[in-house]
Amino acid sequence: MHHFRYIGQNLNCESVDLAEVARLYGTPTYVYSAATMADNYNRLASSLKGLDFQICFANKANANLAVLRHFSNMGCAFEFASAGELQRVIAAGSDVKQSVFAGVGKTEAEIKVALENQIYSFHVESEPELARINHVAGKMGVKAPIAIRVNPDVDAHTHAKISTGKSEHKFGIPLKFAAAAYEAASKYPHLTLKGVQMHIGSQMTELGPIVEAVKKVAPFAAELKTKYGISHFSIGGGIGIVYKDALASGQASWWDSLPESQRPLTPETYGAAVVPLLQPLGLKIVLEPGRFLVGNAGVLLTRVEYLKHGNGKNFLIVDAGMNDLVRPAMYDAYHEVVALHKDTTRPSLVADIVGPVCESSDCFAKERSIQEVGEGEYLAIMSAGAYGKTMACRYNARPLAAEVLVKGSSFELVCVRETFEQMTSLERIPAFLK
Ligand SMILES: *Cc1c(COP(=O)(O)O)cnc(C)c1O
Repeated sequence: MHHFRYIGQNLNCESVDLAEVARLYGTPTYVYSAATMADNYNRLASSLKGLDFQICFANKANANLAVLRHFSNMGCAFEFASAGELQRVIAAGSDVKQSVFAGVGKTEAEIKVALENQIYSFHVESEPELARINHVAGKMGVKAPIAIRVNPDVDAHTHAKISTGKSEHKFGIPLKFAAAAYEAASKYPHLTLKGVQMHIGSQMTELGPIVEAVKKVAPFAAELKTKYGISHFSIGGGIGIVYKDALASGQASWWDSLPESQRPLTPETYGAAVVPLLQPLGLKIVLEPGRFLVGNAGVLLTRVEYLKHGNGKNFLIVDAGMNDLVRPAMYDAYHEVVALHKDTTRPSLVADIVGPVCESSDCFAKERSIQEVGEGEYLAIMSAGAYGKTMACRYNARPLAAEVLVKGSSFELVCVRETFEQMTSLERIPAFLK
């Protein structure tokens, strides 16, 4: 559930009229709902009752400093995949002592930063990485806390580009080689064996693969506890969200109207399935949700520039592009698109909703039925709170979008729209061209 709904004819985020935000700050602009993030966090936390757990928000999903601060205020820790993401957590005013560091390519410099800031655990993805962390920790005269990411060879049943838990993927160490990797790790003088980790994929909407992976790794975790005294088991992230009926899914009645078997994964069903499997281990359970905490808490506001009639086709050309939100182009992702001003007296229109970028893949929706809208009117691209702004780029020399955080009837810019001067400020024309 989330806090985007029409009040009268106007789409609101909590108690803020989104058209007012668009007029004030321009478009394209990401808008996030603080209450939705808090609800998501609290629901997940409640569903884990009975476990000793720590939620670590995967900040690659949304790394805006205000968003990180909001989660940190709730007692959330973080999962990061680079030193930059770690430094963002610190810049947001939090420490990283309960946070974890994943990623297959950690550099020596990144390992050093993480050790200096006393992170909770490295999540190690290969044998050479064990050697490197040991080496850096040794030079610093400290012991590095590590967990090995195991790859359970489970198909997450999600898009190929966001599936990570099969043996053909680059992530983790195959479960059958993991015991040997721990044996090797235990011999390094500057490592402390702290836990075990897995993460099989993103946007998972079925319980099956999650349960299968937990069942595969839990006995190994128990073995590691006996042998090395490990203290945590991270089961990763990956809980999926609703994209297709994004707006309707904000209402409890939408969920109630669906038969149990057709209901997307909820934190309650997730918790009910995994808690009984994890509780007997007596380990601290770490979760690393990204998308689930922020995905439905954000929209991307965009302005209609043109309605173009092609050969038997309509194109609704908007001022947001694939550089602002790449998910449709990159993952064939579906995003619901709605008008900020709802007018049921208008006819509907079938159109491709496209951006201005010079690529055919710059398309948010194909053959989509939408209320007729014209130049200057605003649309909201729903469920854009995760992997939106964090994946944005400046292709076509388009400045990075603004971001706004809403809480109740308050709203504030949490990232100013980039200017042309900022966009080019790091570039230089060398003397030999002058
Ligand atoms: C991306 C990632 C996550 C978060 O995935 P979501 O699908 O957004 O929940 C968690 N853990 C690791 C190691 C990741 O790479």
